Amino acid sequence: MEYNLLTFTSLPTKDFKKRETLTTMLKFLKQVGDYAKETVQAARYIGQGLSVTFDHMQRRPVTVQYPYEKLIPSERFRGRIHFEFDKCISCEVCVRVCPINLPVVDYDFDKASKKKKLKSYSIDFGVCIFCANCIEYCPTNCLSATEEYEISTYERHELNYDNVAMGRLPYKVTQDPMVTPLRELAYLPKGVLDPHDLPQGSQRAGLRPEQIAQQMEPKKEETTQK
Ligand code: SF4
Ligand code: SF4
Repeated sequence: MEYNLLTFTSLPTKDFKKRETLTTMLKFLKQVGDYAKETVQAARYIGQGLSVTFDHMQRRPVTVQYPYEKLIPSERFRGRIHFEFDKCISCEVCVRVCPINLPVVDYDFDKASKKKKLKSYSIDFGVCIFCANCIEYCPTNCLSATEEYEISTYERHELNYDNVAMGRLPYKVTQDPMVTPLRELAYLPKGVLDPHDLPQGSQRAGLRPEQIAQQMEPKKEETTQK
């Protein structure tokens, strides 16, 4: 026979005490059932949370203790542009190829030698999008990308670098005695999860650009023979 609250409430009045006890018991059992259900649910949520934690134990770190630690920028990182005054021929190619005509080339035209004489050169890094078009097309290679990315200032106009500021070479992360350089996390050798204390000469996952170039060489030879 199935018992429920209605069965017990319909008992005769002489069994009032018994009925009350049974009702209390039912309520208690219901509370225990609810409590057990909530416990199972809570355990499931804790399990879900811990599964994320354990999963992260197998992943590469994403935190760097900046500014005490810094990541070594990748080989083709496009940071603040370096300018070599003596190499510039004031051709203004960099201005024409820049999507926003940003470089300012100030020169005098020497009629005797029929050559332009550079007076000053500047790029406003508050506006520059670091596309490196100017670097790519400069005929004398007097522009180059450095690995400097810390050029923030309180005043935006201070980012307008002249040829003197652009001629300064930045500190390399690997040469700064105040900084612990870390290998870029994505470039850690296979299976290595900690970027600290990497053994000397350990290879990163994947190939270096010169190794890729080496692999491509025989293919080039094959195509020329055909
Ligand atoms: S393209 Fe190069 S050489 Fe020509 S003006 Fe610009 S920086 Fe100077
Ligand atoms: S990096 Fe691009 S946006 Fe900046 S000055 Fe050169 S061409 Fe212009």
